[in-house]
Amino acid sequence: MADPAECTIKVMCRFRPLNSSEVTRGDRYIPKFQGEENVIIGGKPYMFDRVFQSNTTQEQVYNACAQKIVKDVLDGYNGTIFAYGQTSSGKTHTMEVSYFEIYLDKIRDLLDVSKTNLSVHEDKNRVPYVKGCTERFVCSPEEVMDTIDEGKSNRHVAVTNMNEHSSRSHSIFLINVKQENTQTEQKLSGKLYLVDLAGSEKVSKTGAEGAVLDEAKNINKSLSSLGNVISALAEGTAYIPYRDSKMTRILQDSLGGNCRTTIVICCSPSSYNECETKSTLMFGQRAK
Ligand code: ADP
Ligand code: MG
Repeated sequence: MADPAECTIKVMCRFRPLNSSEVTRGDRYIPKFQGEENVIIGGKPYMFDRVFQSNTTQEQVYNACAQKIVKDVLDGYNGTIFAYGQTSSGKTHTMEVSYFEIYLDKIRDLLDVSKTNLSVHEDKNRVPYVKGCTERFVCSPEEVMDTIDEGKSNRHVAVTNMNEHSSRSHSIFLINVKQENTQTEQKLSGKLYLVDLAGSEKVSKTGAEGAVLDEAKNINKSLSSLGNVISALAEGTAYIPYRDSKMTRILQDSLGGNCRTTIVICCSPSSYNECETKSTLMFGQRAK
C-alpha cells in the first residue's frame, strides 16, 4: 500500500548563468542565494525544496532532481518531472530529454557492456522492457554518466528551429519500464514522464494577434490548468481538475496518488527578465 507520506511534489529551482547577450547588454545578476533552499529577488525570499545556483553541474541537478524518481520508477512507481520557465531559461538544458532517451536506449548497451544476462524485450504493445533486470544498473551515477558519454553523438538531432518550436509546445516523453524477475516471476512496471513545458512568458498584449494570440492563450490555459492541478494536489484537495487540459489528462496516472512529481523551475538571473522570473518563482511556490 502506498504510504501517504510518500505522496510528494518536490519543487526545485535552477538559475542559469547570465548569457553573452545579457552580459553585453549590461544586465545585472539579480538572484541572491541563502542556503540551499532560498533565493531572494528584489528583496523578496522564495523558498523551494532546493535552489541551484548558476554554477551547479548537470550531475548535481540530476542527483537531486531525478535520481530518486528514476529509482522509484524502477521499483514500480509512476513519476513525472517537469521543467517550467520562460523561453531560454534552461528548461531543455536541464531536462536533457535526449539525456533520458539516450539513458534508456543505452540501457541495452549498458547491459551488453556490463555482461549481465539481461535482455530487452518488447511486450504485446511494443513497449520495451528489460527482462529480469534489477534496478542496480541505472541507479549508479557513474553508469548514468558513462551512458551519456556513449550517447553524445546522437544528441544533436533536429536542432534547427527547435527553440522556436519548443518555446510554444509542451514536449512529453514517456519512459515505460517493465521488468520481470525470471526466477520469482515477479513483475514490476513504472512510468516516467519527462515534460519540457512551453515557455511561460507572457506574449506582449499589443504585439500578438490572430493565430499567435490563440496559441499564447492556449499555452497560458494549459500552464494554468497544470498549476491548478499541482496546487490542488499539494493542498490535498479532494477534487483534482485533471480534465481541464489535455496535458493533465494524459498525465493523470503519473501525478498525485502515490506518484512522484518533481518540478524544476528554470530562471534567468538577468535584471532584464526580473518580471518573468518572479512570475516563474510564484508558479513554483503554488505547488508547495
Ligand atoms: P529553454 O528550453 O528554457 O528555452 P534552453 O535549455 O534551450 O532554454 O537554454 C537556452 C540556452 O542557455 C542554451 O544555449 C543552453 O545551453 C544555455 N543554458 C541553459 N541553462 C544553462 C546552464 N545551467 N548552464 C549553462 N548554459 C545553460
Ligand atoms: Mg527548450
